[in-house]
Amino acid sequence: MTTDYCCKSPFFPGVEEAAVAGGAAGAGSPSVPDQDVVSRLSAAGLSMCVSALGSPARSSPVSAGSEHGERFSRKVFVGGLPPDIDEDEITSSFRRFGPLVVDWPHKAESKSYFPPKGYAFLLFQDESSVAALMEACITDDDKLYLCVSSPTIRDKPVQIRPWRLADADYVLDASMPLDPRKTVFVGGVPRPLKAAELAMIMDRLYGGVCYAGIDTDPELKYPKGAGRVAFSNQQSYIAAISARFVQLQHGDIDKRVEVKPYVLDDQMCDECAGARCGSKFAPFFCANVTCLQYYCEHCWATIHSRPGREFHKPLVKEGADRPRAVPFRWYNALGSSKQQAAHPSLPKPAAAARLF
Ligand SMILES: [Zn+2]
Ligand SMILES: [Zn+2]
Repeated sequence: MTTDYCCKSPFFPGVEEAAVAGGAAGAGSPSVPDQDVVSRLSAAGLSMCVSALGSPARSSPVSAGSEHGERFSRKVFVGGLPPDIDEDEITSSFRRFGPLVVDWPHKAESKSYFPPKGYAFLLFQDESSVAALMEACITDDDKLYLCVSSPTIRDKPVQIRPWRLADADYVLDASMPLDPRKTVFVGGVPRPLKAAELAMIMDRLYGGVCYAGIDTDPELKYPKGAGRVAFSNQQSYIAAISARFVQLQHGDIDKRVEVKPYVLDDQMCDECAGARCGSKFAPFFCANVTCLQYYCEHCWATIHSRPGREFHKPLVKEGADRPRAVPFRWYNALGSSKQQAAHPSLPKPAAAARLF
């Protein structure tokens, strides 16, 4: 059943192949650190993970390069800019690497000429510009810097942070089947966080992580600030979604992020398997641990009219893969379902029995 999900799921492009490739990689370059390594790394803190796991050999091969051989996003973060540098001056500081546009959050609305928080994004036209820029950088403590001048400050080193496409996916345990129904959505992920780092943090907290992914935008393939973590077992999955919030600690980042079940839009109702909803995909997921099921509107109303379940909130899949709680129209749906709830032929709530 789980392999079925794997193959059909649109959320893990190429991960099946990754699992196969990871398994076939052999002892020479294991893509899966053994338990000793994992615990030693955990004990030593995440900065060690970065160097140990950030190398190409240990990354998932999924996005090690696109069909065009790209290795980096054309979008590059630049931080620590001089406060009086404006958009034109940033552009001219980086134009020698190729045509680019300078952007920062809310730039259009603010009508400011200066990036307000001292950082900006360089959107290069060609990926080769990113390689040229990196080549010109100086490296210090694994970070890249380039000197930039503003009207009042000469040669200030600014941090250049390219995004390596391969860092968007990481298979921690290729021996485990990936089950989207044991996958959590992690919102508010700090942008420099790599999939390998997310996997290690969540594995340290809940155990049983087999995969982590960083959501990227389809055009520039740059992180959107959210991620997914797939667990190998139900206990770890339930522990993660029950926590609701997780403290992600990595280097100088220490951020509380939100954890929710990853809601799929191609699941049949777990109660009626489509019998009561014309075989349409189920629109609702109940994240309460006594349910943890997909429901059609009809079955949602039936199951949640039972005592103790009235306050469960349906989750729906939203744009940008973000699950969202929706208010359920109780009084429309309840009238008919109440009669049916008393009907002896209705299926019993399967979830509780299945989970505990
Ligand atoms: Zn149903
Ligand atoms: Zn429920």
